[in-house]
Amino acid sequence: MFGPSKIYMDHAATTPVDREVFLAMRPYFSKNFYNAGSIYRGGVEAKSAIENSRAKIASILGVRPQEVIFTEGATEANNLIILGLVKAWFRDGSEKKPHIITTEIEHPSVLEVCKHLEETGVAEISYLQVDEKGLVSVSDLKKLIKPETILISVIYANNEIGAIQPIREIAKTIRFWRKTNNIEYPYFHTDAVQAVNYLDIKVEKLGVNMMTINASKIYGPKMIGALYKKENISISPILYGGSQEFGLRPGTENVTGCVGFAKAIEITTNLKEREVKRLEELQKYFFQELKNAIPDLYINGGLENRIPNNINISIPRISGEELILRLDVLGIQASTQSACKSDNSQQSHVIKALYKNKSNNDAVIRFTMGRGTRKKDVDETVESLRIILKKYKK
Ligand code: PLP
Repeated sequence: MFGPSKIYMDHAATTPVDREVFLAMRPYFSKNFYNAGSIYRGGVEAKSAIENSRAKIASILGVRPQEVIFTEGATEANNLIILGLVKAWFRDGSEKKPHIITTEIEHPSVLEVCKHLEETGVAEISYLQVDEKGLVSVSDLKKLIKPETILISVIYANNEIGAIQPIREIAKTIRFWRKTNNIEYPYFHTDAVQAVNYLDIKVEKLGVNMMTINASKIYGPKMIGALYKKENISISPILYGGSQEFGLRPGTENVTGCVGFAKAIEITTNLKEREVKRLEELQKYFFQELKNAIPDLYINGGLENRIPNNINISIPRISGEELILRLDVLGIQASTQSACKSDNSQQSHVIKALYKNKSNNDAVIRFTMGRGTRKKDVDETVESLRIILKKYKK
């Protein structure tokens, strides 16, 4: 019941809900179903479940509870931080066009918001390029910062190729820039959705001012996310309604979601060290076995600075979609790119960025391992690939 029966190699898309998480959530669906805004006992208990969850998440991030804002998911948190900051900039009487720096390999929930602001003339956006390993350069970033730069948003670990960006170094550069120019901007935001399972997410160590996380990638429920925002940073809401979530996210609170999120982040934090070690070894083995089985494949992104569950390769002379569907028939679930892209016929913006927009028709395939992945699953995946390629590769 708690986990897929097939070989699931798509943990970057979503993860099964952990049994303990499910059990923690269960009472809040029925017995304690109350609206956290109600003043009778049931409501007060629901509110207290939310506040306990907030406190747990805050303590894992090393921040204050009032700096954690629950949202409907990471997409909403990313929208809230970017649009909310731009709105606050104009609300406070600034007349200059705000400038935002991001990267060309962000998740669409950052990239599309930036493109929208750019296309409507509201903000100027600079997109940092990445090298062939999928990494941005801090010296490129330095050259782009200017007095109107209100926000720098850099994804911590990429969802397609697993590339880990130099967040601490970027934070240092930004702090130095602020200090020498004596202004509070730019703020630094990171989308840490894919990082929570494997990387350090202590805010102070990272040096970020804002951070997006969600539950569905860490064996928690879908449709619940959170934004960490340093308390003294003012943003405007992007939805209007009730005063929930410090006036930044109106709507009846998702009590079950908050409780499940807190449990999930607690479990993943406890398992982190062990899982990182285990998956690092499995990842090495996976890459090696793939290379042995398919000599003409190439790896997308670098081998270092990569989260340990991610394998992303290209294979010439076969279509990516065909490969995914044939693997599915053999009981293996993988993907060609992010599940958030509805149009899979287009080449991923992340892969294009790696190869400087030189597109080709090679199949891109992403395997993302997780808690349930074992060596035998890797063996079966590689063997299935070998069989399919032998039969169908042109
Ligand atoms: N950011 C990253 C890096 C992601 O991988 C995802 C989900 O795929 C999101 C944001 C969006 O998350 P949600 O589905 O919670 O809106």
